[in-house]
Amino acid sequence: MRLPLLLLLSFLGLSIVISCSSSGGSSSSSGPAPHITKALIPKGQAGRWRTRSMRPRYITIHSTQNFSRGADARAHARLLQRGSLKSTKNSLGYLTWHFTVDDSSIYQSLPTNEQGQHADYEGRGNRSSIGIEMCENRGNSREATLDRTARLAAHLMRKYNIPLRNIVPHQHWRRIRHADGRDLGHKNCPHFLMTNGKPGVKWNAFLQRVKRYF
Ligand SMILES: [Zn+2]
Repeated sequence: MRLPLLLLLSFLGLSIVISCSSSGGSSSSSGPAPHITKALIPKGQAGRWRTRSMRPRYITIHSTQNFSRGADARAHARLLQRGSLKSTKNSLGYLTWHFTVDDSSIYQSLPTNEQGQHADYEGRGNRSSIGIEMCENRGNSREATLDRTARLAAHLMRKYNIPLRNIVPHQHWRRIRHADGRDLGHKNCPHFLMTNGKPGVKWNAFLQRVKRYF
């Protein structure tokens, strides 16, 4: 998903804090269960002021399209915890998703049995999928991020018995905007895995990578 310009400004502020306080975090990139840092949005607050239960049947893959240097997984988790990612267009009033991945870490913001607001407003994507955002901050390795995301997806497939065909790009879900009922169609997300706005050879290569880790 693309974050509004105002949020980019908040990232600029955050990046200073992060570069002073973060040594990159610790994570393991080997073994079947990837290291996940839990940084849940507090229950009853921000994007969890209201919760809806979910049985995860799909995994939706996104990329942040946030290219600020400090916009890593930890920064996104903090924004979600603080309720900084507001939306006037969905019924929740916030954007929320489950996991954010960068080249060295995975942060979890929502329990996997709660619905997020990352895919298609009140549609099936939000009602039934775990949302994973891949970071695109400057200096972040896309290759390492993709690899970590594939490991996470494979781990979640095993844990929730989700078939490979239900690992989908955000593009899969048709977006009918909650606020005015407008049909926004299919989003080109994650843009760097789409071919002319649709799943093609790059998406299939990603799925093969997930399969290898499964
Ligand atoms: Zn997206």
